[in-house]
Amino acid sequence: MPELPEVEVTRRRIEPLLVGRTIASVRTTGPSYFYLTDPALLAREIRGRAVQRLERIGKYLLGALDDGRSLLLHLGMTGQLFSSEASSVRLLSAAHRAALEPGAQRGFVPDEHTHLVLGFRDGGPRVQFRDVRKFGKVALLAAGEQHPRLARLGADALGAQGGDLFERSRGRVVAVKQLLLDQAFLAGVGNIYADEALHLAGVRPTRRAGRVTREEWDRIAQGVRQVLLRSIEAGGSSIDDFVAPDGSDGAYQLERRVYARTGEPCPSCSAVVRRVVLAQRSAHYCPRCQH
Ligand SMILES: [Zn+2]
Repeated sequence: MPELPEVEVTRRRIEPLLVGRTIASVRTTGPSYFYLTDPALLAREIRGRAVQRLERIGKYLLGALDDGRSLLLHLGMTGQLFSSEASSVRLLSAAHRAALEPGAQRGFVPDEHTHLVLGFRDGGPRVQFRDVRKFGKVALLAAGEQHPRLARLGADALGAQGGDLFERSRGRVVAVKQLLLDQAFLAGVGNIYADEALHLAGVRPTRRAGRVTREEWDRIAQGVRQVLLRSIEAGGSSIDDFVAPDGSDGAYQLERRVYARTGEPCPSCSAVVRRVVLAQRSAHYCPRCQH
């Protein structure tokens, strides 16, 4: 599932493909829960518009149009936003992949999962939004409209501050890991990064959030920023379906310390990494380094 670093990597790489270009054609699939704005209306309204800026808010991308409206994009669980010039075997169906020679790369032809294809007046590369599971979202927002999904978000995780997290966690009985995953508490931290940040901070994922000390929250905030920035630098994680807009894979998953490393040695102390289930999701930690 794309988390903050993958969305930020997408923003940085898709920005030059969108900003300053005038949309000449819009292709969509039929109405579905993928579209928060009716696809026919969306296509009609954004044709002829140019994108002025592309911002990220938590895991949402917001493209500011030249008429004051905004295009809201969310990658959901399996969303892929990429250039028509990208080539990656990860974009192909399993059957298609199996038919390829080892190491072969091939351009992507939009399929039934490609819900948005933007063509531009300059005739250059198209921007395509593909989402196999359709938990992604597209919406057209009126000028000044604050979408309820954005209004609910907490502070952006890249700006996490220990003092703020400490104060807002007082009295909270949920596990600290679960609170970190709550997008209203901190926007953009997902499963991998929460486990990694807690390991760097030396705090067990199962600790009651309201009992985590100020000093520990400082270390957690620092850990969150560190793992997110490092992942952005590495191009994100490609454990699931994430593909950068140019078709490349992220490499952060190769550096992870405890996430999905159950039974392997902790990189700091060599104790065996453990897994515990918290609110139906796996948490990974070192029993010696994390208290
Ligand atoms: Zn350890």
